[in-house]
Amino acid sequence: MSEQEALISAVIRPEIRALTAYKVADAAGYIKLDAMENPYTWPEEIKAEWLKIIHKAEINRYPDPEAKSLCQVLKEYNQIPAQSEILLGNGSDEIIQLLLMALPANSTVMAPEPSFVMYKQIAQCLGLNYQGLPLLADNFELDLAVTLATIKSQQPEIIFLAYPNNPTGNLFDSDAIEQIIQQSKGLVIIDEAYAPFTDFSFINRLTKYTNLLVMRTVSKLGLAGLRLGFIAGDSSIINQLNKARLPYNINILTQCSVEFALSHPDMFDQQTEILCHERARMFLQLSTLKEIEPCPSAANFILFRTAKNKATDIFNSLKEQGVLIKILSPQKGLLSDCLRVTIGKPEENNAFIKALKSAI
Ligand code: PMP
Repeated sequence: MSEQEALISAVIRPEIRALTAYKVADAAGYIKLDAMENPYTWPEEIKAEWLKIIHKAEINRYPDPEAKSLCQVLKEYNQIPAQSEILLGNGSDEIIQLLLMALPANSTVMAPEPSFVMYKQIAQCLGLNYQGLPLLADNFELDLAVTLATIKSQQPEIIFLAYPNNPTGNLFDSDAIEQIIQQSKGLVIIDEAYAPFTDFSFINRLTKYTNLLVMRTVSKLGLAGLRLGFIAGDSSIINQLNKARLPYNINILTQCSVEFALSHPDMFDQQTEILCHERARMFLQLSTLKEIEPCPSAANFILFRTAKNKATDIFNSLKEQGVLIKILSPQKGLLSDCLRVTIGKPEENNAFIKALKSAI
């Protein structure tokens, strides 16, 4: 072992050394349909109004550590019950990290598989026990009997359920989720990152269950670059988590920009309406293609299965034709032969379909 290797093994925990870093593909020059971003920006007059707000921001001062004004706006925009409290994060990624950091040593973290990879990645990084809950192969639904039995035997401190789920796009059965919340002695986090694209939510059940927390982000709405997520729940839990939050985690430009953006709800409603319409159109188009099997989605992306062992070739061919989507087949299991495309502007979606037809 070299001196540097000895240093690394002395100062970096083995579970971190064993991890592979979360890789983001270089998207420069591509039609970018890989990261569930909203493809639309703002009309010039709204941008001009925003610049006036930015102009007034006192960037020489620390931001409001509690982001009080923004919290109020987020609570109203998302119809959070008055008695629930919220906590903000630098993206919902940071909130997942914060939740897991607050757990006692040797805690167990559960999430369906496949689901959002950061639940497992951060749990492993922190040396926690991670237990995947395999979804059913035919429809990516929760396997309720197995899930409840696993919860009973392992008593997880925390369970993450993405609703809709990423990367499958479906909404798990809400009665099954309620049974999980009821049976779980730990926290259940309903991750509603894709809330702008569905009418279903657990926010109205926040006051019914004290172990339920609902997490959201402004990323998919169209503000991914600002990095802001929040979690809502019983004040007794939020107040504890708040102690582990870094005091100035939401910078001043994010605070004033999100607050400004959310004062234009009609703009976002119009954009998400177009995207939901495009989602339906894309689903139909994908369904007509030979050897392509799209999964119904309540989010701003569609997972689709290709013919056996064809996903990599199709992904590469799309890339050569200038379209970047996400390849999931390396994750294996239920995602073998799977690719995921984000819903873009109509012209981007058309370019994707055209490229896909030539790739298959
Ligand atoms: N939850 C889910 C289910 C996601 O898919 C993502 C991003 N892809 C996130 C959370 C993280 O979102 P952000 O950190 O941008 O708020």
